[in-house]
Amino acid sequence: MLRKIITVGDPRLRRRSRPVLKVTPEIRTLINDMIETMDAANGVGLAAVQVGEMVQAIVIETPEDEDDPTSGKLFVVLNPEIVKTGKETEVGVEGCLSVPGYAGEVERATEIVVRGMDRYGKPFRFRPRGYLARVFQHEIDHCNGVLYTDRLVAPDRIWEVKPGEEEQAEAEDARQRAAVHAG
Ligand code: ZN
Repeated sequence: MLRKIITVGDPRLRRRSRPVLKVTPEIRTLINDMIETMDAANGVGLAAVQVGEMVQAIVIETPEDEDDPTSGKLFVVLNPEIVKTGKETEVGVEGCLSVPGYAGEVERATEIVVRGMDRYGKPFRFRPRGYLARVFQHEIDHCNGVLYTDRLVAPDRIWEVKPGEEEQAEAEDARQRAAVHAG
């Protein structure tokens, strides 16, 4: 079932979600709904809080990219936690389905280690790199009430994009669009 995505101004986006203690039928339904909602919105990730459920659950699916074997895979993580952050960082463009119509530049670690629980209640541990590491950091932030707009490289490094293009993956493309919108 499609869920409504809440947007900035809704105080729930600023609250910390609670951990999932047990994978109940309700949690399974929520996860399926989140995947469906993310796909329908052409998003690359979604946290439960974005559909108004204050539980620590994220779903991620980045577009297929032949140079990246972790692309195009669906990740479902409950209670996701970053247990290690690499020293190397990179600036990239992010958007958010809860901040419609905007994209901005954020500096993120290029490699992290994420721990949590999968949708079957089994331990999850993964080391995403590059763009996928960025998406994980963005979604885990949601579980803690943090938005990418809190982490802009500079307050003016945010710009308008066409509705539906918030989750812009290609930084270069977004920069070109930024130039278009700079006026
Ligand atoms: Zn977001």
